[in-house]
Amino acid sequence: MTGPDISLTTGAETAAALDAGDPLAPFRDEFCLPVGRDGSPQIYLAGNSLGAAPRAAVGAVQAELERWARLGVAGHVAGESAWAPNHELLTEPLARLVGGRPHEVVAMNSLTVNLHLLTVSFYEPTADRHKILIEEHAFPSDHFAVESQIRQRGGDPAESLVLARPRPGEETLRSGDLLDLIAGHGGELALVLLPGVQYYTGQVLPMAEITAVAQEAGARVGFDLAHAVGNVPLALHDWNVDFAVWCSYKYLNAGPGAVGGAFVHERHVRDRSLPKLLGWWGQRKAIRFEMATVFDPIPTVESWQLSNPPILAMAPLRASLDVFDAAGGVAALRAKSQQQIRYLDYLLAEVLDDRIESITPVDLAERGCQHSLRVRVPGVEGRAVYEALKDADVACDWRSPDVIRVAPVPLYNSFADIRRFVGVLDGALAEAAR
Ligand SMILES: *Cc1c(COP(=O)(O)O)cnc(C)c1O
Repeated sequence: MTGPDISLTTGAETAAALDAGDPLAPFRDEFCLPVGRDGSPQIYLAGNSLGAAPRAAVGAVQAELERWARLGVAGHVAGESAWAPNHELLTEPLARLVGGRPHEVVAMNSLTVNLHLLTVSFYEPTADRHKILIEEHAFPSDHFAVESQIRQRGGDPAESLVLARPRPGEETLRSGDLLDLIAGHGGELALVLLPGVQYYTGQVLPMAEITAVAQEAGARVGFDLAHAVGNVPLALHDWNVDFAVWCSYKYLNAGPGAVGGAFVHERHVRDRSLPKLLGWWGQRKAIRFEMATVFDPIPTVESWQLSNPPILAMAPLRASLDVFDAAGGVAALRAKSQQQIRYLDYLLAEVLDDRIESITPVDLAERGCQHSLRVRVPGVEGRAVYEALKDADVACDWRSPDVIRVAPVPLYNSFADIRRFVGVLDGALAEAAR
């Protein structure tokens, strides 16, 4: 994985050789990396939380502001990036990232809003089949969304929620256990809603198998791809996933509050029998401005749109997706990412030995960019080590109760970043133990 001619060492020459042999290295210059106290770039390993700003994003937003100033209302229809169809420019690049067809993918709203909209459509509880399976430690927003959806239909989460949890003493879900749980609740499950990549542990779930087993049991399947999109390869159409949602400010680098995305499989996009919350932006485009009050849906997933889209929040996403395409897409990025994962694993083992434990699965197929690390030094608080990392200009994050998440992102992180990080962590551990 690290190339036939580079055997790993802990030395700076290895990081330099890996960077020199990296065809994606020039893309680092496409991003603005936050600057640390000494004026040099931070070691930015927080792309799982907020991706770095594409340089072109600043100009992209500026251009929309200028169009508004220059054209006013005419901007809705004037020119190549007219606002009314503006989200269409995002469709194909997003479809490439999630493995969807263009009529299955739309940029709209934000993640939790899209989760609600699609749960309205794909959770159709009956007396026998009313359960939703999620993880016990789902991201709170997902848990709240699902709980409130159950209540909204007159159900009781105590009766209708099935929670998947790791075995006692384990950190991650075993695929076999998860598939057994789904099959075991088969007749009662209306919906399985799981992450593509778990936010806390970084575990990649087997989305194709989950979809097959859940659908075999008669349930529908949705994925939250917040930590998966732009990180690992996805094939939503071929996996036959019913729906998926994501945000764009993590690995898609589209900035705080960026517009989210949604996928609905083509089997469903024209199904008028699905319950659906409606808005005028889902109305067939040719007649939208006739202002008729009979709903005639766009024959694509765009029919789930409610409102005219946030142009200023979409411009940075367009800038970022251009960089993804220029870099050769997720397949190319994933190849580099796997090298980076191996390199970080190697350095953690060699330099930090048993002072740090990773709770992220070891198998490359079960993980993306993120490493979830736990401090294992008697008397040393993980939180204090995290604070020391921050003070040393490492951008990473802390997730309660005790995990430091770091994510080398192949678009803009170098192998030298990874080595510097391990050096800083080594120092922080030594300092904290003193
Ligand atoms: C980041 C994240 C969210 C965030 O939801 P927003 O609606 O974008 O605020 C939700 N769910 C998961 C799993 C996430 O990782």
